[in-house]
Amino acid sequence: MEATQIAIPGDESHRTNGVSKDHSVAWKDERRETHSTKYHHDQEEESDTLDSYPVINQLSKSLSNIPSTFMDYRKRLKHDDLSMLPPDRVDPRPRRTSSGSRPDRSPSATRMEQALADAKASTKENLVNCYRKLLENLGEDVTRQGLLKTPERAASAMLFFTKGYEEKLSDVVNGALFDDRNDGMVIVKDIEMFSLCEHHMVPFFGKVSIGYLPDQKVIGISKLARIVEIYSRRLQVQERLTKEIALALTEAIHPTGVGVVIEATHMCMVMRGVQKIQSKTITSTMLGEFRDNPKSRQEFLALVRSH
Ligand SMILES: [Zn+2]
Repeated sequence: MEATQIAIPGDESHRTNGVSKDHSVAWKDERRETHSTKYHHDQEEESDTLDSYPVINQLSKSLSNIPSTFMDYRKRLKHDDLSMLPPDRVDPRPRRTSSGSRPDRSPSATRMEQALADAKASTKENLVNCYRKLLENLGEDVTRQGLLKTPERAASAMLFFTKGYEEKLSDVVNGALFDDRNDGMVIVKDIEMFSLCEHHMVPFFGKVSIGYLPDQKVIGISKLARIVEIYSRRLQVQERLTKEIALALTEAIHPTGVGVVIEATHMCMVMRGVQKIQSKTITSTMLGEFRDNPKSRQEFLALVRSH
């Protein structure tokens, strides 16, 4: 399976084939603008490392314990395998109730749920502490009334923004596949998408359009939106998100062709830029028939673009 990105004609300044290139160019330009206004730095030359930003550097150090705890918890959720749990929490022996019948939920499953709940609670607690440190490092008074519950709220929000780590394709797809002899193209346009750019941890958001050519199987339409949720509710880059959605759909229903187009606004560009407010980044992935057959691709793109 090979993913290809194609150029979409349109506003050439933003809708280029190399989206990441476009992105980085915009960043470089903005950095120069920042230099010229000298809001933050006096030096003309500075490296691209975080060392140039003492506050952010300090912040990233105080946040450095997030990934292990956070990801341990998320990774644990990804596996049904009990071996992922701490040994003292695993109880492989099936128990019976006093009446001799099997309980609805096995003790080991209950223990696993408890272990996950514990892991989630401790992750959340770590995040709350990190956000409190973050506020302090920004020079804020964390005891003032407006901020008292902010670390807690921010931690909850971040867990929600990244809840895609806790979801599996199989959970979404199970029971939502249907036989279909019709081999017409299926297109769902403008699925809303909210994600976090992994370079700045600020939002990028926009619309996802998905098309596929079924091979005997179709998937419930609402499930396409669920698939978008799985992969967008994580730290992402738009190019990878596009590809992952296309590959997930391929894995789920083995269609003869898949096309995914995402049009998004990146707040890391918009908020820093001076005249970047209207900038949109468009990415696409075409697989199978959509990649190999220009007619299918054109039909898909024409339908996606029509309003
Ligand atoms: Zn970014």
